Amino acid sequence: MSTVDDSAGEPAPDRECYRCDRNAAPQFLFRIDVTPPEPLSAKYADSVRHCCEHCVAAMNLSEFLEQVKARARRGSESVDG
Ligand SMILES: [Zn+2]
Repeated sequence: MSTVDDSAGEPAPDRECYRCDRNAAPQFLFRIDVTPPEPLSAKYADSVRHCCEHCVAAMNLSEFLEQVKARARRGSESVDG
């Protein structure tokens, strides 16, 4: 139940997308937290990846965008999917 916080130490370098190595300002990178399931936690470590919006879209990780759209839609329409 303990989490290791290794934020101490070296400052974060300029961020780049872990998939396409495209340089992007940190505020334009998606943060992807990777947490292994309990049975595999001894084998795999937690990690954080940063990904550009293009790769996020390519990986279909942008479902929340649909939520945002749905919420916006719900504002003008009363029909619930
Ligand atoms: Zn990318």
